[in-house]
Amino acid sequence: MNICSIRGAITIEENTKENIVMNTENLLNEIIEKNNIEKQNIINIIFSSTKDITKAYPAIATRNIGITDCAIMCLQEMDVEESLKMCIRVMITVNSNIKKQNIKHIYLKDAKKLRPDISLAKSGFAVAIDGPAGSGKSTVSKIISKELSFIYVDTGAMFRTITLYCLQNNIDCSDETKVSKELENIDISLEFENGIQQIYLNNINVTEKIRTQEISKNASIIAQISSVREKLLKMQRKIAENSNVIMDGRDIGTNVLPNANVKIYLDADIDERTKRRCEELAMKNETFEYNKVRQGIIDRDNADKNRKIAPLKKADDSITINTTNLSIYEVSEMIIKIIKENIK
Ligand code: C5P
Repeated sequence: MNICSIRGAITIEENTKENIVMNTENLLNEIIEKNNIEKQNIINIIFSSTKDITKAYPAIATRNIGITDCAIMCLQEMDVEESLKMCIRVMITVNSNIKKQNIKHIYLKDAKKLRPDISLAKSGFAVAIDGPAGSGKSTVSKIISKELSFIYVDTGAMFRTITLYCLQNNIDCSDETKVSKELENIDISLEFENGIQQIYLNNINVTEKIRTQEISKNASIIAQISSVREKLLKMQRKIAENSNVIMDGRDIGTNVLPNANVKIYLDADIDERTKRRCEELAMKNETFEYNKVRQGIIDRDNADKNRKIAPLKKADDSITINTTNLSIYEVSEMIIKIIKENIK
């Protein structure tokens, strides 16, 4: 037998003894049932509740459901701005054969918002993040996906990978017929390590290799070819089918995932976006000229916004965030808040 800790939380509707006890019983019963816990194997239970719960100790519920022989403690939580109201949390320590990866932590009612990774696991919750180059999409998406345990799908990397193949094989990226013909020889696969995407071109990991200025420039040319977009669209939708995803790109909210649960459009002034791109290049010790980087971004924006198929544009139901004067953490916090508000 191992000792394991199982967590859970529930929100209540009213600060009454009846409501506190009934909800705590439901929470405990669900944790016990879903994890096949033998009540006599429980070592201890720690409850905490928000400060607005004052009419009863949640611990009363343990006796009501027949747990009488373990150490129990009730704590009051700190009052943190904008945190959930009327919330009871619990941690049960138990002797069990259950493996760590099979533990089912239980989050009920509004407390689901505390653990979207668990609560939404099977439902395929999708967050679409679109916007022009340098608006902060990938940096912010990485932070959010880590925080919420979603997978982060960088669709730009897919267009970049096809571009890399064409450049490696001397295929003109604007030659629609030739590029289309080559697509059957281009196998793109994705793996997610700790939620972060690794991209493979014909079984070779090209995640780093696709981040050059030449590929950035040519990717927006190749992205105009309909057969390229069709191939990638299928892949993108398939990934989003069974996972909770943060997917970033140019046409996610408008075209790839029109029913995404949350749609964000990130934007920033051209000089701020240029500055960010230059900082990235400097970090990689690449040589660059500010004006060329700036013009490169403008050209890419124009190509992306004016192409015939799936151009970059705000989805009508998206929320726009201008990131010019915001830190990546401020933007991430804003989006996490929006996501949590959208979890039913
Ligand atoms: O986002 P990133 O700069 O990596 O994207 C590279 C290029 O891929 C973009 O400039 C755009 O032309 C194309 N792209 C696209 N649709 C997406 C994602 C990227 O057309 N969903």
